[in-house]
Amino acid sequence: MTEPVDILAVFAHPDDAELLVGGSLAAAVDQGESVGILDLTAGETGSRGTPELREREAAQAARVLGARFRENALLPDGELANTLPMRRRVAGLLRQFRPRIVVTHWLEGRHPDHREAAALVVDASFLAGLRNARDVPGDPHRPFKVVHALTFREQAPNPTFLVDISEQVERRFEAMRCFASQWDGATGAGEVHAGGSRPLEEQVRAQLAHYGSLIRVPYAEPFWTREAVKLPSLGSLAVSTF
Ligand SMILES: [Zn+2]
Repeated sequence: MTEPVDILAVFAHPDDAELLVGGSLAAAVDQGESVGILDLTAGETGSRGTPELREREAAQAARVLGARFRENALLPDGELANTLPMRRRVAGLLRQFRPRIVVTHWLEGRHPDHREAAALVVDASFLAGLRNARDVPGDPHRPFKVVHALTFREQAPNPTFLVDISEQVERRFEAMRCFASQWDGATGAGEVHAGGSRPLEEQVRAQLAHYGSLIRVPYAEPFWTREAVKLPSLGSLAVSTF
């Protein structure tokens, strides 16, 4: 059986993890936490690059971030849905990788795969923990927590918490640049819309700087959880009101 992983990033397409939470994954690695990436599809319907090229790019990007492994669930791109067969597939992989924290998409969005993935990952995490779940391979394992990335969402609630990625931001861009087939010359990607002809990278940097300003650091990534955040004491609160 493989070693349990502390953090598992589960996103719809190869490059989503880098674009949305690359800095937080690198920051986790820097904290000594183990990180894995599970892409749900191979991005075979994408208009740029081939699945083979994206696979090579994805492997290279995972190395830049320091991920222990990267796997692909090979679910159909453009057709992700929170169905029982897909939940079983994802639950089986969660049992294999045994993550403590799962990071995935925000619940809403323009891309159907992204919002379907958000619900699919939550329900597959529950299913993976059911001892008598039918047709799910492996021993029961339920992730402790599922966290949703709010990065670049235009209509999202206030973040539940933000991760300071100031020290990882250049590595984040290096990982993003591994996906040359997707982003070379692009002014938009997924749900990032650069204003006019402003380069994508400049837009991403500007938005990460905005998230950073919310916690008074240079760069950050925003997250949302259903649960409240626990602190040891009032005195441990960070981020000044003034
Ligand atoms: Zn995507």
